[in-house]
Parts: sequence; C-alpha cells; structure tokens
Amino acid sequence: MSERAVLAIDQGTTGSAALAVSAGGEILGRAYSEFTQHFPRPGRVEHDPEELWQVTASVAREALAAAKRRGGRVEAVGIANQRETIVLWDPETLEPLGRAIVWQDRRTAAICKALRDAGHEDEIRRRTGLLLDPYFSGTKLRWLFENDPALAARASSGDLAAGTIDSWLIARLTAGAVHATDPTNASRTLLFDLDGGDWSDPLLELMGVPRRILPAVRPSAGDFGVARGDILGAELPITGVAGDQQAALYGQRCWNPGEAKCTYGTGAFLLLHTGRERPSSDHGLLATAACDAHGGPAFALEGSIFVAGAAIQWLRDGLGVLESAPESETLARSLPGNEGVYLVPAFAGLGAPHWHPQARGAIVGLTRGTGRAHLARAALEAMAYGTRDLLDAMARDGGVAAARLRVDGGAARNDWLLGFLAGVLGVPVTRPRMVESTALGAAGLAGLRAGVWRAPGDFAAARPTGRTFAPEMDAETRAELLAGWRRAVAGAVAAAAPVP
Ligand code: ADP
Repeated sequence: MSERAVLAIDQGTTGSAALAVSAGGEILGRAYSEFTQHFPRPGRVEHDPEELWQVTASVAREALAAAKRRGGRVEAVGIANQRETIVLWDPETLEPLGRAIVWQDRRTAAICKALRDAGHEDEIRRRTGLLLDPYFSGTKLRWLFENDPALAARASSGDLAAGTIDSWLIARLTAGAVHATDPTNASRTLLFDLDGGDWSDPLLELMGVPRRILPAVRPSAGDFGVARGDILGAELPITGVAGDQQAALYGQRCWNPGEAKCTYGTGAFLLLHTGRERPSSDHGLLATAACDAHGGPAFALEGSIFVAGAAIQWLRDGLGVLESAPESETLARSLPGNEGVYLVPAFAGLGAPHWHPQARGAIVGLTRGTGRAHLARAALEAMAYGTRDLLDAMARDGGVAAARLRVDGGAARNDWLLGFLAGVLGVPVTRPRMVESTALGAAGLAGLRAGVWRAPGDFAAARPTGRTFAPEMDAETRAELLAGWRRAVAGAVAAAAPVP
C-alpha cells in the first residue's frame, strides 16, 4: 500500500535538510547536509550557489529514496529557505555569476547609510515594512551592480537572472523553465511593495534593479513549475514556497490574527500573525508577508533577539561553566528563584524593541553566593524576558495580543525554560511533538496545493499536538521579575559606550 506524501526542502544558512512527510503526518524520509561558509573578509559572508544547489539536490534525492523504500508516494515539492540571501545566474546556462551574498553580510552598510542620509528610510519603511539595513537583499543587489560594470550591463540587457534562494532552487529544479518566488521571500528584499503585493518600481529604481531580472511573484501555495525527473528521479510539481520563518509560522498552524510562534536557536525569531491587516511598527519591529490557512496572502509582525540559545553556548564553550546545553535545565531547577541575578545577553547590541547597537552584555545582582546555576538560570530567563518585551511591543504596534505562544528550535527542548516562559508571558506555551516546523510548513503549503491534504484542517490533524506549558506564575512574582529585568537592561544601556 502506498501513502501520499510531500517532499519538503528546508534550505538553511548552515545546511540543507529534506523531509518526506506522509499525508498522515509521518516522516518517511529525512536527510541533512552542511555546506561551506565563505568569509572572504571581515563582515562578508558568502555561499557558493552551485555547492548549495548540489547539496540540496542530494539531500532531496536521499529523502525521496527513503520515502520510496517505506512505501511513500511523493506527489509534490515544497521549499522553505534562508531569507534575504541573493544569487545571480545566467538565465540560459543556469550557471551562477559569482557567490551568493548571505543575509548576515554587512558589506552594504555604507549604501544603507547613504540612502538614510538622503532621506529614503521613511519611504522604504512605508513601502516594504522593513528597515534600511544590510540584512535585506536590495542593497546587496545594488552593491553587486555598482562594483561590477559587466554585471550591471548584463542586468540592464536582461541577460541575467537574480533572486533569493527559493528562486535559485526553482530555476535549477525546473532546468530554467521557471523564474519565480513567493511574497514571503519577496517581502524581505527591500524591493517589494507590501500593500501592492508586487515589486515596487520606485524602489527598483532606487536600488538600480531592472524588473525583468527578478522572479515573478506567485502565491506561496501555488505553481512553481515541475522539478525535472533527471534531477530528483521523478517529475514532481513544486507547489509550495515560503521563507523559513514564515514557513515555520505556517507549520506551527499560526494562521489567524493573534497567533504567534517563536523559534529559539542561536537567536530567537518571533512572528505574530496579524491577518489581512498590514501592521506598522513604532518599536523597530518589521512588517512582513505571511500566509493564511490556505497559503494566501496575510501579514505578520516580526521581531528578533540576536542572542538566545547562544548565551547558553557561551556559558558552555566560552566560560566552561556548563557541561552541556541541557544541563542548564537541571541547574535552573536547583534554585528556588533567580536571587536577583540577571543576564542581559546584549553581546551584539540590543535589538527590538530597545535598539541600542552599542549596548553590550551585562550580568547584574552578583553576590558572594552566586554560582554557575545562577548564570545558567539567568541566561534561560533572559530568553523569556526578551520574548515578553517583543510581544509587548507587538501588542502595542499590531493591536493584537497573542493568547498563546507556539515554540520550536533547539532551546525549546528545555522544559524548565518553557514553563518559566509561560509564567512570564502569562499565556500558555505549546511545543509541537515534531519540531521541524519550517520543513513542515513548506510541506503543508505544497501538500495543500497538490491535494495531498484537502483542507488546512487535514494538514493540522496530521500534526500531533505536543506539550502545553500553562502559566503558573502569580502576577506579583511576574511583576517583580520584569522590574528586575528592566533595571538590568537599563544598566546595560547606561554602561554602553557612546555612539561613535
Ligand atoms: P540554530 O538553528 O540557530 O543553529 P538550533 O535550533 O539547532 O539552532 O538550537 C541550538 C541552540 O539551542 C544552541 O544555541 C544551544 O545552546 C541551544 N540549546 C540546545 N539545547 C538546549 C537546552 N536544552 N536548553 C537551552 N538551550 C539549548
């Protein structure tokens, strides 16, 4: 007997994963492989698009083969991908024209500053929902064309294709037949009109990007062509595409206004669905495209914490006071409370809603009795306080408050953290049984469009609910803890060096 299934590709910053998911929600095959990170100069981060493609194709074939051995009948492909990273390629030969510039790359800081000084930030914010920052793709394209006249000439004659990683994978999977992206990826480029749902001519002009080199924007649960049989071993339609964070939002079943998810990895990414209402932020949050239950257009507010699980890593690898990341849980539980110790993990400055690039990390409240358990607990508590700060800012900006938070990512394995988080937020926190929310989101979008699931509810039913952590903290304790956190943050800000 064969079961209908979907292949999800999760193309991330350090590696590519592939997951074959059956209609019943079973994982029939999985594969993962890393690829090379290139750091040609300080502040520059690049990927080799050819290697990235080869690694991705290979894990996709591996997961497909595993699914086949288990009797799965894969009918469609979904793609979730690292966002903002930009690739240029030859539209005829599909050969990359240089390395991909990765989202982490800071080389366009001067372009961003020049655009800000020229007074463009307000317009960019209004049209795209984003900030003027090297993180996003638009200034990366402008940099490429400014620094290579041959590329600029090819771009203006249309003899070049540009796109985010999703469109690069689609081009290769379809052997050049399709050049397309989806709104969630497009909304991270600084070139996309968030209200209009298409590329913005004034912004294309500002960044020096001809419209004809960009992919067509198609619905996230839509038709992105057919992956060739000689590549994957079978002809498969590509029917779902989303940027990784929005894919995770979809995979976590946050389909309606007020539904939110947070992914706790190295950093933390919080997205709050705002429905058909485009949000705007006065607190440095981003407005971004997301998906409704059917993969149709919707909006979300996004905020990120630069350092989340990385603070645990630092205690383990930098200070050597933790044996392992999971040990943080045992240590946190061993204390009756935080005993006034707070860790502000502003190792790379403070992001939303504080926005203080010069702030640095701080540990406050130390006494002679402070030990490693206090530090571990304080690092975990900081993830909860950071989340609370973001959700509070989102409630003010978006006008919708989250009634619960769904979580995933490596640090969400920590039960103590999730219990404490629920307490600090005052809402229940739910962790799904299958934590691969990003790949599952891509699978859901693709499978819905391909009819593997007839309705969003069928996809949801195929996802076992995990564990819910109820808020058990009393209001007084919560208020005291948050007041302590706010004093610690103010201390870190007060200690920051002046802006140069
Ligand atoms: P990324 O995708 O950013 O590489 P992962 O989702 O794999 O991150 O999560 C890894 C992060 O989670 C690390 O920073 C690690 O310190 C943290 N982490 C892993 N397990 C735990 C745990 N049990 N408690 C707290 N933090 C953890």
